[in-house]
Amino acid sequence: MNHFCVKCNTAIIAGRSDKKFCSYNCRNNHHNGINKEKYSGIRAVEKPFHKNRRILEKLFSKGLNTVYHETLVILGFNFEKITHNEKSVNGSERMFVYEFILEKIDNSIYRLSSQG
Ligand SMILES: [Zn+2]
Repeated sequence: MNHFCVKCNTAIIAGRSDKKFCSYNCRNNHHNGINKEKYSGIRAVEKPFHKNRRILEKLFSKGLNTVYHETLVILGFNFEKITHNEKSVNGSERMFVYEFILEKIDNSIYRLSSQG
């Protein structure tokens, strides 16, 4: 009795009768597809955090160590998507986005640093 590849529906003529795929490629593609689905929810959640990180990384790589609130807003920084938040010893608010730190100097400006 013929059976068919789960992925591409090609008849499987060689190998064990319980073989599900015609080739290594089909097996691989099939499992990648499942993983893609499995992780798409996680990626959707992580995406805005990654975007925030990219924004800070770009500013930091330009050598900026202070940044205006307004600049962050214009660049699309989402202040709700930070990885961690704490008060520094001097009482100022510090927002972490992965290895980058925004420390509030006042309502319009932050100090930007990296612990990476
Ligand atoms: Zn196949």
